[in-house]
Amino acid sequence: MCVTVSAVIEEFDLPCAECGHELVRTIVDDLGTDTDVTVADCPNCGSRYYPRGALERL
Ligand SMILES: [Zn+2]
Repeated sequence: MCVTVSAVIEEFDLPCAECGHELVRTIVDDLGTDTDVTVADCPNCGSRYYPRGALERL
């Protein structure tokens, strides 16, 4: 679990792939899982990025 959390933080340190804007962390619970998932939203262009751990659950 600790390894997964570290990977998520590293991904959120990356800028938006579309416009380069700094990403903002948002907690969502609409992925069909039992736990909340923290995603990264771009406030500039609206792109949303899911951490690797969240994608593996889909
Ligand atoms: Zn963007």
